[in-house]
Amino acid sequence: MPKEIKIAGNQVASGQRRSINIPVARLYTHTEMTIPVHVLRGKKDGPRLFVCAAIHGDEIVGVEIIRRLLKLKILQRLRGTLIAVPVVNVYGFINNTRYLPDRRDLNRFFPGSQKGSLTSRLANIFMEEIVANSTHGIDLHAGSHHRVNLPHIRACLNNPETKKVAFAFGAPVILNADLRDGSLRQAVEEKDIPMLLYEAGEALRFDEFVVRAGVKGILAVMRSIGMLTSRTIRKSRIQPMVASATSWVRAPGSGILRTQISLGGKITANQKIGEIADPFDEHETAVISPVSGIVIGRMNLPLVHKGDALFHVAGFEDSVAVSESLDDFKEEIGESPTATSLQEPIHQPI
Ligand SMILES: [Zn+2]
Repeated sequence: MPKEIKIAGNQVASGQRRSINIPVARLYTHTEMTIPVHVLRGKKDGPRLFVCAAIHGDEIVGVEIIRRLLKLKILQRLRGTLIAVPVVNVYGFINNTRYLPDRRDLNRFFPGSQKGSLTSRLANIFMEEIVANSTHGIDLHAGSHHRVNLPHIRACLNNPETKKVAFAFGAPVILNADLRDGSLRQAVEEKDIPMLLYEAGEALRFDEFVVRAGVKGILAVMRSIGMLTSRTIRKSRIQPMVASATSWVRAPGSGILRTQISLGGKITANQKIGEIADPFDEHETAVISPVSGIVIGRMNLPLVHKGDALFHVAGFEDSVAVSESLDDFKEEIGESPTATSLQEPIHQPI
């Protein structure tokens, strides 16, 4: 790790806070395209944490999490460096889509290459300019294609440092998720840099609860690695639970889905969790869960084809403890948005 921090040729000195635009391929209108980055370097050296969002351009909730994070006065006492990249896939973000203009998914193309496709080049730029300057990382995502996720962390718990920060984040559920080929998480973990993926909410939507939990989790991670002091950030009382397995409950037929199972709901094997019927059906098809567990993701669009993924269910050794942890989590996030110093009023839903 070089002592200096240099992003796209711009040096960031101790105690400095600056915005940097990393050039990427222009639009075909000749318009310059850049990835905006905000760097806060404390006066004292310490860990270098990148926090990024919108690798999938339609997963916008992380952009709001980063915006709120950057407004916190607590960061004036930062030790080390925070590198915030609110919009990685700038092309997809503009078009409200997950993909790049070449129809590729950025999170399957890391670490990328200098001479590859547009997507591969963008992945390479992120590795060279952001990851190369970092000791830790957090990547913010949301459910895609009308699916909404319960706030949870995906991490490779085999790495002890990753495990430590995964628990520190304070989300109620952790998935010890396999590294997906070509994902940022895989490319970063291969460099032995601990990285978390925060998965919460729904694409193209804001969700106040998800935003609060995200800001709070990032601050808790910063505290756990010594970027913020334990005096300024209170420790979460959430006891995260690691899922033993996850699986999808799929639609047994095509039609319109009715269900009363909500996110965080507890279900048992062979329980009826919904009904599917087309508008003229006299007979409804029951959706039966083959597994027990907690619903960590679900379809919001009730129009389904046979085989569509409807509910993402995580299994635990102790589902009752998870339910209790979820209740604590709701209470804690509701009470205390960022643990200490929220700089603006919380917008209540209309
Ligand atoms: Zn995503």
